[in-house]
Amino acid sequence: MENPEEGEGNANGEVITYKNPIEQLKENRINLAQLFQKLNIKLPIESYVIFAHPNYYIHELPAGEPFVFRGQLQTHIEKVKQHIYPATEDTQIYVRNLERYNKDTSKEDYQLPNYTFESLSKILLFPCCKKDIGLLSNYQKFIECHNCHKKYAMKDIGEYARWEFQNLFGQEPTLMQLYHWCDQKFSKPRLHTWFYKKKSPPV
Ligand SMILES: [Zn+2]
Repeated sequence: MENPEEGEGNANGEVITYKNPIEQLKENRINLAQLFQKLNIKLPIESYVIFAHPNYYIHELPAGEPFVFRGQLQTHIEKVKQHIYPATEDTQIYVRNLERYNKDTSKEDYQLPNYTFESLSKILLFPCCKKDIGLLSNYQKFIECHNCHKKYAMKDIGEYARWEFQNLFGQEPTLMQLYHWCDQKFSKPRLHTWFYKKKSPPV
């Protein structure tokens, strides 16, 4: 849906839109062609939209659209197979180029996450079902998952949020960061008591 009706959206009021399949196909085809050019791969590209759901069908579709429905998939694959020609030395080079590219880019992704603290939603989640814990009353001690009814001490919810932060950013959150990461649902003194209090030496 590129033009959703007014008022549609998720719980945060965000509207996620998708381009229509033909537009997506065109874009992906261009992206793949550019990648091929970059890696000096000379192979023809044929593009199709595959509708994988068994019950999905568009009736009275004009001829010539690049759509393949579930029921046509087997025939489609057989047809594609008829055009397959044996791999040449070039093909082997292409495969190696693609593999190398894949390795390099996954390393880049690892070094530079494409998210920041600011860009991520600050929502407290249940560790079990990863659903929003919703509203809390002040000084509430326990909470039950709305979905599977598992019970948690509030500290466990905070601990899970802290664990998320550590995994996403590779470091311990500061008190202020954790406070905002927890959607300001736990007071700073509370978080301090849970996670930041220095243990006093035994007397
Ligand atoms: Zn649950």
